Amino acid sequence: MSVEKLQFQAETKRLLDLVVNSIYTNKEIFLRELISNASDALDKLRIEALTNADLAGDTESEIFIVPDAATKTITISDNGIGMSRDEVINNIGTIAKSGTKDFLDKIREAGNAAAQELIGQFGVGFYSAFIVADKVELLTRRAGTDSAVKWTSDGAGEYELEDCAKDSAGTTIILHLKPEFCGDDEYDFTDVYEIERLVKKYSDFVRYPIKMSFEVKDKPDDEPTIEIRTVNSMKPLWTRSKSELKREDYDEFFKQQLHEWEAPIEIFHVKAEGTVEYTALLCIPKHAAQNLYYSDYEAGLQLYSRHVFIMDKCKDFLPDWLRFMKGLVDSPDLPLNISREVLQQSREVKVIGKALEKNILKQLGKLLKDERDKYEEFWREFGKSIKLGVYNSVFDAKAKDALKDLLLFQTSKEGKLATLAEYVERMPEFQKKIYVAVGKDKAAIEQLPQMELLRERGLEVICLTDPVDEFALEALHSYADKEFQSITRENFELDDAESQKVKAEVEEIAKTREDLLKDVKEAIGEAVHEVRLTSRLKSGAVCLVTGANSPSLSMEKTFAAMNNPYFKATQILELNPNHAVFKKLEGLHAQGKDTPAFKDLCTTLYALALLIEGVMPNNPADLANKITDLLTK
Ligand code: ADP
Repeated sequence: MSVEKLQFQAETKRLLDLVVNSIYTNKEIFLRELISNASDALDKLRIEALTNADLAGDTESEIFIVPDAATKTITISDNGIGMSRDEVINNIGTIAKSGTKDFLDKIREAGNAAAQELIGQFGVGFYSAFIVADKVELLTRRAGTDSAVKWTSDGAGEYELEDCAKDSAGTTIILHLKPEFCGDDEYDFTDVYEIERLVKKYSDFVRYPIKMSFEVKDKPDDEPTIEIRTVNSMKPLWTRSKSELKREDYDEFFKQQLHEWEAPIEIFHVKAEGTVEYTALLCIPKHAAQNLYYSDYEAGLQLYSRHVFIMDKCKDFLPDWLRFMKGLVDSPDLPLNISREVLQQSREVKVIGKALEKNILKQLGKLLKDERDKYEEFWREFGKSIKLGVYNSVFDAKAKDALKDLLLFQTSKEGKLATLAEYVERMPEFQKKIYVAVGKDKAAIEQLPQMELLRERGLEVICLTDPVDEFALEALHSYADKEFQSITRENFELDDAESQKVKAEVEEIAKTREDLLKDVKEAIGEAVHEVRLTSRLKSGAVCLVTGANSPSLSMEKTFAAMNNPYFKATQILELNPNHAVFKKLEGLHAQGKDTPAFKDLCTTLYALALLIEGVMPNNPADLANKITDLLTK
């Protein structure tokens, strides 16, 4: 039989280098990874056998582990789906998994120093074998075929493939252990009892028997006899009662079952026996996946029926905005061979989904109330999802109602995040609306010229720093009967007596400056809808506000990014009549509305107002020239 030498795909090689050379703090995890692959392979065979009766063999599905001190190896076998030659090349020689790609990208960004920490957060699956082995052999035969192939590698860039003989379908992996893992040092992975302990620790609820052979002697001097035992309990964690389980049990489960690398922020274990019976075990992961909000993110829950795995990534239970939730649903009311199409229509799935959504919302509310720090940790990772939920709940008044109280915002006043209820609680009596402002961050909002008076009056503003914020609040419209009011909208005004007085004064001035305002508008052109005087500025000379009902400037930006250039903000330029620049404007206007000096000042003021709002003026070079001129005059 000929041996073929092949190169690892470049990315795979890099990953292997990292795995082999970086110090995994937890060497043991290789076993969990390989057992989990074996269990997946058994699942796959079972599912294929549903539609291909030839594959349904009469042997029991099992995973067999043989540690062997004499050969310094540990062998892990399964009688699952196995792999064809091409599958070996594609699955083992290549990194196809997006998660692993993410991992490599992160490593690349972070540099090697951080690699060690990062590597602990990601699963590297099969390659974890090279943490403990300096040579790995994999013999595999695809179910339904007669030919088997042997893959061998020392993890250094190349691997060998050759045809081989294998009695039955499935995969056998032989790890040739590095000396330090054979008992010379702190680890002995050739010891049956050590391996038994690890299987119990990490893989106890794997749903297939994990078997090992033990030498037993009745009396110390007897010849040993060999006894085969199943090491794992196989009892799915979610079927146990909550009182029996500790938080660590759940954490370990999510790590094992859902390849989470850190303990989740929160877990939900729900059992229901109503019209539809089900158990769900869900978690909020510690971190949001990098691509969580992109279309390539694969959301969904695992689906079981009577503890038997049916499918992965079932999207039909939870609404899209809850896509960050991970976990599983086990329901005896769903048939084993249900297809994805049938699932979408399934009444049971809808009932379960609605109940889960309600439950999650309730639990999040509880978390916010009872464990604020933990809730804020959740918020930092997944707050965007809640906002998307609000935005998407336009037609679901109940969900919207539950969601609005889960929102947190930075505000101009407190260093801490605030709920809408907390904000409203702090509002002075005369304040009728909830003030909001849009900006790239809190610091940028603080510097808006409109903020000056608000600060002076001790008024608090909610900072909207994520593009989705404005859309979410738009969908909410109001909170506790108080409308949201952007401080950069034309209809914003302060309700206190002092402000109303200044407003009346400015209105008086405006009556006598109608010509000037008309000519400023003419000099700027179509870009602005109106030019007017304002009472909302103190030391600032100009500001730009948007129409009460038009998209805001930042919404316009968001629409443009989505290739929708038709939603435009209605811009209104406001001038502070008490500012020295206004006097100058009046002076130049008196010399003629068509003089270049007057026109230049008008367009410069408009460009500055745009810049304050973080919008690039159409002709920045022209603006720069005008400012330079002014500076040298
Ligand atoms: P992951 O399991 O997370 O996809 P791995 O690197 O562990 O990543 O494995 C890559 C692929 O190799 C698996 O997706 C699977 O297709 C295949 N594979 C690994 N182990 C086995 C096995 N014991 N039997 C069949 N296929 C396997």
